[in-house]
Formats: sequence, C-alpha cells, structure tokens
Amino acid sequence: MHTAAPTFAAPRGEQVYAAGRLHGDMASCLFCDRLRSPTAIPGGAIYEDDLVHASHYMDEETEYLGYLLIQTKRHAAGVAELTDEEAQAVGLTATRLARALKAVVGAEKVYTYVFGEKVPHFHCLVVARYRGVPEEYWRLNLGDWPEAPRGNAEAVAELARRLRRTLESASYSA
Ligand SMILES: [Zn+2]
Repeated sequence: MHTAAPTFAAPRGEQVYAAGRLHGDMASCLFCDRLRSPTAIPGGAIYEDDLVHASHYMDEETEYLGYLLIQTKRHAAGVAELTDEEAQAVGLTATRLARALKAVVGAEKVYTYVFGEKVPHFHCLVVARYRGVPEEYWRLNLGDWPEAPRGNAEAVAELARRLRRTLESASYSA
C-alpha cells in the first residue's frame, strides 16, 4: 500500500488548522463542526456517548490507517478544562480504542497524546504504531514511515466499521 512520498507527521492536522479558523468560539471551531456534520467523517463515529465522540481522523485523500481522535462533545479548551465525568469518559475511550487497534490492525503499540495548540476544543489522538516500524519513525514520525498502511476514505470507513464492531462486541469488555 505504497503511495508517493509521505507528507505528514502525526500532528499534521494541527498545521492545517493553522491556515484558518483559529478562533476560540464554538461558531468557528473545527471540532464543533465535526459534530454538526457527522456524515462528513468517513465511517462515522467509532464510539460516542453524551460526553465524547471518537472517530478515525481523515484530512488527506490518502490517510494513515489507525489514526483515531477522541473529542469532547462540549467545547472544552483542554485537559484542565474537562469535567471529571468527561475526563473519565476520555480515559476509558482511549483505553478501549487502544485495545481495539491492537485487536483489529495488530498494533504493536498505541500512542495517545494531546497538544491542542491550535484549536481550543479538547481532542486526544490515539494512533497505532505497527509492528516493524524502525525506531527513527517512532512517536510523532509514524506518518513518515514509507511502509505505513494508508488508505482512501473507503478504507478509512471500513477500518472504522471494524473498530466499531470490535468495541460493540459482547466479548469485548475486558
Ligand atoms: Zn469546539
């Protein structure tokens, strides 16, 4: 599944946001927009409840597969601004998504991180590191690995469906 020269490091999305709507209000917030237009997200929600929404991130025509995003439903600025209930929901969702990535794509390791420098709406990235990734591509350089699995919107949607089925399966409660 090779494509042309890799073009992104994992936090690349933040750079895209830097091009435009960076205001702190909900009316111009990219993450509020995602909640208003859920059908624009390939595969839709992998998980959601009253507090959080989790999906596969997609910002390029060909996306790194296994690049998930948990965001709060509420327009909360960052980690310190979460309610206890939101923090619990985010933590539990991150753990369950990480387990699902290990089960579905065989991730060797799953990274979770929060920067939130550009868009003041809480979002946590949950990213698969595949087996065999050379150490020079670890951490924020996963997307630069030439062998990184990538896919179009259809492939992203199919992975999202597989992750959702795994999360919903009755046997998946460990
Ligand atoms: Zn927002």
